[in-house]
Amino acid sequence: MKSKSVLVIGAGIGGIVAATHLAKHGMKVTVVEKNSRAGGRCDRLSRDGHHFDTGPTLLVMPLLYESEFQALGTSMREMLDLQRVDPTYHLVFDDGSKLALTSDMKAMQEQLEKFEPGSFDGLLRYMTEGHRHYHLGIERLVNRDFRKASEFFTIKNIPLIQQLKPLANHYKNMSAYFDDPRLKSAFTFQDVYMGLSPFEAPATFSLMPYSELAHGVWYPRGGMYSIVEALMKVAQDAGVEFVFDASVARVDVNSTHARGIVLDDGQRLEADAVLANADLPYIYNDLLPDKGIARSISRKRFSCSVISFFWGVDKKYENIPPHTLFLAHDYRENFKSIIDDLGLPDNPSIYVHAPARLDPSMAPTGEDTIIGIVPVGHMSENGEQDWAAIRDDARQHVFRRLASIGITDLESHIKFETNFTPLSWRKRYNLMKGSTHGLCHNITQLGYFRPGNKHARYDNLYFTGASTHPGTGMPTAMVSGRLSAQRIMDDFHI
Ligand SMILES: Cc1cc2nc3c(=O)[nH]c(=O)nc-3n(C[C@H](O)[C@H](O)[C@H](O)COP(=O)(O)OP(=O)(O)OC[C@H]3O[C@@H](n4cnc5c(N)ncnc54)[C@H](O)[C@@H]3O)c2cc1C
Repeated sequence: MKSKSVLVIGAGIGGIVAATHLAKHGMKVTVVEKNSRAGGRCDRLSRDGHHFDTGPTLLVMPLLYESEFQALGTSMREMLDLQRVDPTYHLVFDDGSKLALTSDMKAMQEQLEKFEPGSFDGLLRYMTEGHRHYHLGIERLVNRDFRKASEFFTIKNIPLIQQLKPLANHYKNMSAYFDDPRLKSAFTFQDVYMGLSPFEAPATFSLMPYSELAHGVWYPRGGMYSIVEALMKVAQDAGVEFVFDASVARVDVNSTHARGIVLDDGQRLEADAVLANADLPYIYNDLLPDKGIARSISRKRFSCSVISFFWGVDKKYENIPPHTLFLAHDYRENFKSIIDDLGLPDNPSIYVHAPARLDPSMAPTGEDTIIGIVPVGHMSENGEQDWAAIRDDARQHVFRRLASIGITDLESHIKFETNFTPLSWRKRYNLMKGSTHGLCHNITQLGYFRPGNKHARYDNLYFTGASTHPGTGMPTAMVSGRLSAQRIMDDFHI
């Protein structure tokens, strides 16, 4: 019997993983990617011996990666040369105090007790809650899709409201563990990874800081892009065909069925199924005809964006740790400026990454590779944000923050700079509103409420990736790829 064919739009993590599962089950899979290489948001920039991960910089939730590599018939530890990053983050607060988050509980105790007597006990209790949230969340919400409402609204799921605290606010919930606002921010800032402010995120997301301390933050030699290289090898070995520099102009549909895709150059490709990995709101808005659904998707809540600076510098900064976070004391105001006002806070929190601390080959000998990331609002509907001016302000904030830890000469040692604003994110990866994490993960956009992995009308059009189920992040994109592939195989009785 002739094998069934699938066209995948986009070679992001979800697209590569789904394609591999489908090919391993005998389907003929072609991935069509607009850019000249795979990886999507997990991208790499190399210049003059400096290597930058331009998207993800943190390998978090290693257990999820491990099980997804296993599901692909391979092993994460064999495919990637991993090292544990500990301390995970060096936190710097506005008052000059510092906290190195570490899995060494004795070192944590010594540091925390200086911030707030009794707070180490708070951490242990918070970790207990995080442990419960992690294991239940992964098993009951992340590692499965919800094809029908009846799979989500079950009697068995009712206790989850208590056990996972989806209706409790994450920041408010922190009062049960810490009084010091610096500690509350130290264990909630990870909500930004979900595109959320801790002031609106469900308390469920304590699973993130828990996993970072319990399972570790890791770094693959060669940077995060080596994950893409590993996945591409598995995909190509499975027989997936990749076509690069080919942008899809539209999905070719009739009233109930997707016939295939049409490329920008007019070429038509046909297949038994189409799987869209490009970000879901963009697919509805730009590649499908129904403008009603597109409008309702664009009215959903989008995650924030970031302005990123990639600097090749002619001096080595051994005293810049691998992951430094400058957390602003006006934490609530910070999120308000980003999420409600769609701007740059007056005193933004900032993340600085120095990959050569972890892998010296990321910079030439005696030099350094520095990334500065400043969270900002996503693009507004009225297009009134002046991104060049906002970017220039953001750059000065990074230099100001670095000066506060004694790095005063970085600007004069920069050999070259590349930067990304929300406009770049939109242009490079077709991310609507330049939103780096796509649809955010507030309570109304989680679980069954998140757009599913199959189109409601077209019976052979599927979705995978950050804005669909289960959500944003590299390991979750791998889960999404597997779940979408499973859905296709179930429909085709494979
Ligand atoms: C700045 C930043 C930092 C992040 N940090 C982390 C982190 O530290 N850890 C972590 O786990 N996650 C992180 N993430 C999230 C993670 O990168 C994403 O959730 C994940 O990579 C999304 O994968 P995806 O499957 O949705 O595909 P995407 O990355 O969205 O890829 C989709 C692909 O579709 C292509 N495409 C779009 N339109 C078309 C078209 N018309 N025709 C053909 N191809 C098209 C795009 O070019 C792209 O290659 C970060 C993301 C960003 C942006």
